[in-house]
Amino acid sequence: MVAVPAVAQVKVVAHRGYWKVGGATGPRDALVSSQNSLRSLVKADSIHCWGSEFDVWTSADGDVFVNHDARINGIEIESSRTTLVETQRLPNGELIPTLDSYLRKFTKHPNLEVVLEVKEHKSMKLEDRCVTEAVRLVKKYGLENRITYITFSLNAMNTLLKALPQGSEVYYLDGELSPATLKRVGAAGLDYELGVMKSHPEWFRQAHELGLKVNVWTVNEEEDMKWCIDQGADFITTNEPELLQRLIRD
Ligand code: MG
Repeated sequence: MVAVPAVAQVKVVAHRGYWKVGGATGPRDALVSSQNSLRSLVKADSIHCWGSEFDVWTSADGDVFVNHDARINGIEIESSRTTLVETQRLPNGELIPTLDSYLRKFTKHPNLEVVLEVKEHKSMKLEDRCVTEAVRLVKKYGLENRITYITFSLNAMNTLLKALPQGSEVYYLDGELSPATLKRVGAAGLDYELGVMKSHPEWFRQAHELGLKVNVWTVNEEEDMKWCIDQGADFITTNEPELLQRLIRD
């Protein structure tokens, strides 16, 4: 028997959903393996991830779409009309999801935390519209109590913090701000790339002392997962959620 550690268990966040089905070495499922697809969200829930992460952009008309890159099939989302963006397909054949359809899908998966990344737009005006529309849709679907917002953009973070009720969780991704600075600007925590945390392992402790939480991305190797767990990460974002779940269980 192994004693159960007193620390809270690290939470598994599927990075852009769970799309590498079968894990690092298992078979791929062509119908699933599109990042940020509706199917990747469903698959993240099917293996009981804590949360499923995805990225959002607004179109030039102010409609919000789920996609990692600024472009899909060569079309830049933020400078294109909705009528053009909405016809684009992911590699698995799905149409690019609207944020509306994505959040509606989350309502069918009530145990899955929504982890919404507002991408850094070229125009702050469009970025602010993206935030406003995302917050409206989250409210429309009653997801306010199970959402974590994340962003690289300080502008988006400030706009989010103004738009959201006090106590809402917004995490910062860009890696250059210390826990003390993040505390000052009102972030719930740091959501930093693995290399940043390896350069600043003291930030785990500093963050926790300030009441902030720590997420690390994108952690795909077993050794790195173990390191993050040992450092006391609260969340780990990974393309290999089944591997991480096995490590946590064992
Ligand atoms: Mg992301």
